[in-house]
Amino acid sequence: MNNEKKFIYLMGVIAIFFALVYKLVNFVLYSKDMKLVNISITLLNILILMIITIIILSSIVSYIILKNRKINSNIMKINLNIVNVMYPLVIVATKIFGIPKNEIRSIYVILNNKYIYSNKYNVKAEDIMLITPHCIQKNFCKHKVTNDIENCRRCGQCNVEDLVKLKQKYNVKAFVATGGTLARKIIIENKPKAVIAIACERDLISGIQDVSKFPVIGILNKRPNGPCFNTEIDIEEVEEAIKFFLGGN
Ligand code: SF4
Repeated sequence: MNNEKKFIYLMGVIAIFFALVYKLVNFVLYSKDMKLVNISITLLNILILMIITIIILSSIVSYIILKNRKINSNIMKINLNIVNVMYPLVIVATKIFGIPKNEIRSIYVILNNKYIYSNKYNVKAEDIMLITPHCIQKNFCKHKVTNDIENCRRCGQCNVEDLVKLKQKYNVKAFVATGGTLARKIIIENKPKAVIAIACERDLISGIQDVSKFPVIGILNKRPNGPCFNTEIDIEEVEEAIKFFLGGN
């Protein structure tokens, strides 16, 4: 089963969960042989049915988006908000069904990016921020790129050099952060108008959710040496995102 199907499957499981709650409420109600339906129980039933309907609609919309079909940007935004609310439940469901969380997190990142790419931006270069964790830097490198990315000596052994080149080519801001907390602090202090965040699935999700004031394109890093160690970036994807925020495509 691919990640898209797993995501839709988990959304379905949550819808079934609410359907079971709905049945249970009705069972309790009628087993007590109540003649008049308690208004609060009726409202609860309506609420549960609404939640089930929203989950089913969100699953359908998510599937359409993930299949690269055209869909209205406002619907994408509403769907992203629903997925945001559902996210903790979906993560609980991954634990129950033994599905790796990162597979579902990557779907969230895709849904976020597709929504951002469905809009038009015309951001000044200096208001665009690139931010990446320091595991992108080779572990043997002694240069303090977390203080200033331009401390990189451009030896060509890691993607920090590529980020410095992009920073200079487009005049965007670029930072290497030692952790998620510092990354958030850097973003808040620099007040960008658009962020291109490069990280693992977990950090991207928390970053995108925490910095909801700015449009954030999330780019997953590559981890050929395992997590948090000598990670790599698809630099073309980063450049595409810069051009997009500049209004180029
Ligand atoms: S490219 Fe820069 S950061 Fe990477 S290893 Fe070389 S000097 Fe260090």
